[in-house]
Formats: sequence, C-alpha cells, structure tokens
Amino acid sequence: MVPNDETLFDKVVNLSKRRGFVFQSAEIYGGFRSTYDYGPIGVLLLRAVKDQWWRSMVQLRHDVVGLDASILSPPAIWEASGHLANFTDPLVDCRDCGARHRQDRLDNPEVCPACGTKGELTEARQFNLMFKTHAGPVVESAAEVYLRPETAQGMFVNFANVVNTSRKRPPFGIAQVGKSFRNEITPGNFVFRTREFEQMEMEYFVPPDQSEEWFRYWCEARRDWYLDLGIPSDRLRLRDHGADELSHYSAATADVEFLFPWGWDELEGIANRTDFDLKQHAEASGNRLEYNDPGSGERYVPHVIEPAAGATRTAMAFLMAAYDEEEVRGETRTVLRLDHRLAPYKVAVLPLSKKDELIEPSRVVLGALQPHWMCDYDQTQAIGRRYRRQDEIGTPFCVTIDFDTLEDRAVTVRERDSMDQERVAIDDLVDHLSGRLAH
Ligand code: ATP
Repeated sequence: MVPNDETLFDKVVNLSKRRGFVFQSAEIYGGFRSTYDYGPIGVLLLRAVKDQWWRSMVQLRHDVVGLDASILSPPAIWEASGHLANFTDPLVDCRDCGARHRQDRLDNPEVCPACGTKGELTEARQFNLMFKTHAGPVVESAAEVYLRPETAQGMFVNFANVVNTSRKRPPFGIAQVGKSFRNEITPGNFVFRTREFEQMEMEYFVPPDQSEEWFRYWCEARRDWYLDLGIPSDRLRLRDHGADELSHYSAATADVEFLFPWGWDELEGIANRTDFDLKQHAEASGNRLEYNDPGSGERYVPHVIEPAAGATRTAMAFLMAAYDEEEVRGETRTVLRLDHRLAPYKVAVLPLSKKDELIEPSRVVLGALQPHWMCDYDQTQAIGRRYRRQDEIGTPFCVTIDFDTLEDRAVTVRERDSMDQERVAIDDLVDHLSGRLAH
C-alpha cells in the first residue's frame, strides 16, 4: 500500500527527520534555509547511491576513469565554459509581497504564486547562479573565485592530463562525484533543489561521427541503472528535450525523470555537448585539447556525451520509491523496500534481552558480520519495536540472539519484506547472508 501522492512527500520528509536520514542544517539556530545535513542513516544511503553509480560507471568498465577536481575555480574556466554569460535563470519580483520567483517555473506568468496578486510581477532579470567568493586575505577583483556549479568542467580542463597519464583513447570517459553549488532562486521540495548538492557526472569523449550512437547508448544505460536499483518502470521515463529547451552547448539532451509526488521531474540529464567545451577551453587557454591517434595519425577534437545526475536528488527518489506501508495484525507497518545495495544497514544484530549472557554472544556475532557489511546494533526495547525500526530504515535482515542461542549456537534471521524467520547456525551466518544479499 503505497501512500497517495499528497501524503507521500510529508511522510518521507517526516521519516527522514525522525530516523536520521536528513536534518535541517543549523537547526539549533533556527535552520539555514534549504540546506540540509545527512544524518547517521542518510549518510549511508547517500554513500550507497554514489558507490552504486561509481561501480556501474567506473569499476565495471574498461573505458572510464575517475577524477576528483577542486571545487574552487578561477573565473577563466567559467568565462570559457559560457557560465559567466549564460548560467542564469530569469528572476522576477512581486511588487506586492516582495517574493522572488523563477519566471520559467511559474504556472501563470502574470500571477505571484506566493500572494496570488495579478499583474505585480516585475520584468525578468537574468540572475547568475554561480556563487562568487574571494581567495586569500584581500577582497579585490583579482582574487575572485567561484564555487563550481557543476563538476563537468573539472573533466574538460583535465582532458589532456588524463589522456597523457591513463593511455585511454576515445571512446573513453572521465567520471566524478562531488559537491556543486548553485544560488538557486527558488530552492525547495526538500532536498530536490538545494543550493549545495552532490552530482555524479561523466564526460564520455567520442570520435565526432559516433556521437549520436553514444548519446542513445548512454540514455538507455542510465535509465536502466535506476530500474536495476528498484525504481518501478511506471515511475521512470526518458524525455527528449525540445529544440527550445536545449542548453547553449547541447546538440541533444534527454532527461531521466521520476514521478515525484508533484509530478514528473528530472533526476539526470544526458547531453550531447559536441566539441563545445574542449574547443572553448583550447581557445581560451591556448592549449591544444585534441586527440592525436597514434595509429592513423589523425587529430581531432572529441565530441562529448555527458550523463549528469544528482546524488542527493536521486537518493530522495529512491526513498520515495521504496516507502511503503502495510497492515500487520491491525497495525500499520512502515517499510522501506530499498534494494539491498542501497540499504543503509544490511544487517541489524538484536539481542533478545539486555541480559549480560546475551550481550556477549551478540557482540561476537556483530564482530563477525562487520567486516562484510554495515551493521546496526540495538539492544533496547521490545523486539517487535526494534524490528519495526529496522523496517523503517530498510534494513534487509535482522539477526536475533536469544536464550536458545546459548544452547544451539544458532540465531534467528528475519527478512524485511516477507518478515519470514529462519534459524541459522552462527558458523554459517556470513555465508547464509552473502547468498541472500544482492550484490
Ligand atoms: P534544473 O533545470 O532543474 O535547474 P538542470 O537541468 O540545470 O536543473 P543539470 O545542470 O543538468 O540540471 O544538473 C544535472 C543534475 O544535477 C540534475 O539532473 C539534478 O539531479 C542535479 N541538480 C542540479 N541542480 C540541483 C540542485 N539545485 N539541487 C539538487 N540537485 C541538483
């Protein structure tokens, strides 16, 4: 029984706070608007999302390498990339209530969505979304730096370094996961749109005549990644951009969209960026950014296919897709049916009672499992309540140590979705769980 759309959003936000997925940033000071901190459970979910992305984009491929570029960057990069001139959103103010809005997101361009007044919105001004700051002690224009609004440019400016050191040749990719910053006019919908967020991006460099075929390849590969990790197919779609929507660098773009409680919205954009970025940086820096094929002697500027996803936004989509409620013996059970690979904890170790004679063997079991998986350990409250707590955070298996354990050296393994229980010898536990946990 998946809650209806109106309540799902509030339920997920509430669960996130209550169980330590996501906290409002600086909450003890009243909160810092639309910034969030990932708590003990959320950090594991977010890390699992990024690990799964890295595994599929880098580890399991022969043609993609990683990078971790700096967040602080000089204006020259953003001048060349076009962000200083073009990375803007149209900003309008309401003369009546003072609220600010992104004009392209208004349902009715005449009406202020905050106060409902008609005809009081100003003309749109182009507002640049990049955060600017100063490096070093002197606040002067020569010391201006930007926080990156995307990770992509780190891959372009390191193109030659990577080619020279990795011996990769097109088609090949450079992948990066990290923070990006955008001074969004209207952040909101919880962690869907924030000013500080994490991205997972890959720039795939291809011979120019192969760009269309690789564009389609990556659209499908990226859609399949979400499906494989448990997003239901009726809540995921690929949507091609119309010509009027394309960014200044793009020859073709498709979005992977998820059906959020407020409707279809973007999780990831896959763009054919052509040779725009490498040419811009080559011209601005005076360096050759080309591929020189040692076999044919041919020189060319590769074209780039970019799958650009949001880690924080995607983690939220996985939470929403996994949230479920069901009636069990007259009570509502909340369960996160997360794919095992995304579950914050894979196993929870639960001694049936707090008595010393159970605590010691429980710690031994925990110690045997921890090298393999992230485990939770919880020894207080009735066992039924502890099972519910683990269901709420999506833990696939609970391992209970009871008084029989002292006799038979076996434990009860309870599975999250079916709630089925099975007795397993402690000596077989690692093998047993390895066989049942998705890898
Ligand atoms: P939008 O049109 O929604 O502002 P965008 O199309 O500019 O987003 P991209 O530049 O394609 O977004 O960024 C790639 C991905 O990074 C997005 O699909 C999204 O998952 C994530 N992302 C972008 N901006 C934000 C943000 N402010 N908060 C959280 N995630 C974001």
